[in-house]
Amino acid sequence: MPGKTFYIETFGCQMNAHDSEKVVGTLVSEGYAQVTTPDEAELVLYNTCSIRDKAEQKVFNRLQNFKRNGKGKVIGVLGCVAQQEGEKIFERAPHVSLVAGSASYSQLGQMLVQLEAGNRRVTGLSFDNPEAFDTPFTRRDNPHRAFLTIIEGCDKSCAYCVVPFTRGPERSRTSDSVLAEARGLADKGYTEIMLLGQNVNSYRDPSPAGWDFATLLARVAEIPGLRRVRYTTSHPRDFVRRIVDAMDGNPVICDQVHLPVQSGSSRVLAAMDRLYTRDEYMRRIEWIKSAKRRYALSTDIIVGFPGETDADFQQTLDLMDKVQYDSMFSFKYSPRPNTAALQMEDRIPEDEKQRRLLIVQEKQRGIQIRRNAELVGTIQEVLVESYNPALQQWGGHTSCNRTLNFTHSDPEARDLAGTYLSVRVNRAGPNSLVGETATVV
Ligand code: SAM
Ligand code: SF4
Repeated sequence: MPGKTFYIETFGCQMNAHDSEKVVGTLVSEGYAQVTTPDEAELVLYNTCSIRDKAEQKVFNRLQNFKRNGKGKVIGVLGCVAQQEGEKIFERAPHVSLVAGSASYSQLGQMLVQLEAGNRRVTGLSFDNPEAFDTPFTRRDNPHRAFLTIIEGCDKSCAYCVVPFTRGPERSRTSDSVLAEARGLADKGYTEIMLLGQNVNSYRDPSPAGWDFATLLARVAEIPGLRRVRYTTSHPRDFVRRIVDAMDGNPVICDQVHLPVQSGSSRVLAAMDRLYTRDEYMRRIEWIKSAKRRYALSTDIIVGFPGETDADFQQTLDLMDKVQYDSMFSFKYSPRPNTAALQMEDRIPEDEKQRRLLIVQEKQRGIQIRRNAELVGTIQEVLVESYNPALQQWGGHTSCNRTLNFTHSDPEARDLAGTYLSVRVNRAGPNSLVGETATVV
């Protein structure tokens, strides 16, 4: 491969975004240069998502483009679609040379050697690697906020979900390696860290220390130089009270909990094999709401799971009324290969799923308008990330994960990105806040 240039496009969740940062770092360490368009690249990679059918289709549409103009390029499919479809991708898209799931990225170096040797069919699809992908070469996209994987894979078997098939069984990193990476990030000037995993709450330190997630969270937050620590995703079944205690114990841990509920009906939750009832979920919400600090709550909801009756759906709406989430991701159920729900009868028609989705989204919009309006008049600490010259506004995120755009009292101020400022909230919309600087923290 003479020029050794590569292009990578990433689909899907934060886990995929972070995997791509590791893949980019590994490729750069092997002498490849990243380019910004597929046209310029010798090696074109798609890091794919298969959580819903739409995400999967996007990748095949991209690959279709190369049928005609992909001559001389090496094309690779990484991530969840690669793991799910495996060698079938070579049949569907014969111009693809590399198919590798995330559990094989630690062998990326060897796979590159095979590609460079001109091998036309290279695969990395095994889950044999008992360790999480841990590389010193991560090329992070953001200079202030960093992702840090603590656990990979998932041992749950939610009836709708492909993740256990595409990312394999759970593998926790040792607490030593997590702490070393977090300290290294703090030394390099990162001040915000997001601990990542499909179910971070089931983290279990494989070293003799044997820490659980609450202990790891508390210890990471004590690292000098870190001002914010977040984590995602939680599973309600494994979300224990000690996590709330750890959060209350150190304000470095952000004012935010993402606790996916999926449905407000215990009957649907049982069919989904989520391993908790509505009441058990609400108990966790009570722990969070009665904590010392006020935490923003967010969730994921699936509408139109097989057998979801109108009464079940009403229970989801009722739960939304009770919890008053600060933000939400809502999805129409999408049948996925290998999953238990694929065999379930009583499919909900597409137009009914769409109707339910719109109702959920409309309701959530109203809730968010009210929740955000409650912040008007308060002073929020913002990690500044960007500047919009047209509006002369800076932008960033609060600890409770709101987007807050603001004007600075000194219009000449430059290079604020990466600093923490106190901002007074003057206005609120459904998706963001607007304000002006109060005093520098
Ligand atoms: N591990 C996390 C959890 O347990 O919630 C996140 C998994 S997934 C990447 C993110 C969200 O996608 C899920 O919480 C769920 O709401 C949604 N999702 C997963 N499979 C789905 C499917 N087959 N159809 C629709 N939405 C789905
Ligand atoms: Fe999928 Fe359930 Fe695992 Fe989350 S906990 S990744 S929804 S199987």
